[in-house]
Amino acid sequence: MRKRLSSDYEGRCGQCHKPMSSEDNFCRYCGTPRGGGDFKPYENSNVCVYGPPIATTHTCTRCGLSWTVNTLGSDDAQFCPKCGGGITSKYKERW
Ligand SMILES: [Zn+2]
Ligand SMILES: [Zn+2]
Repeated sequence: MRKRLSSDYEGRCGQCHKPMSSEDNFCRYCGTPRGGGDFKPYENSNVCVYGPPIATTHTCTRCGLSWTVNTLGSDDAQFCPKCGGGITSKYKERW
């Protein structure tokens, strides 16, 4: 039986521990289905990337879902959060 993980996992990918929105079926960073994954908290490193603010637009090549993320540094999403398909990304520096 799969143990329900702590609330710390809510809203996080079970594999890479990046944030997932409540509607996401797949992690957009590693493609792991919601509830899947093998995340080990103590092996996780919080990577902070500093750089110019960048607006990144991701578009799913399978279902066409498109979303934009504003980040410091690039957003390294690689999978569609809805269908788990591959995405294309466009980066736009905001200064
Ligand atoms: Zn993930
Ligand atoms: Zn998709």
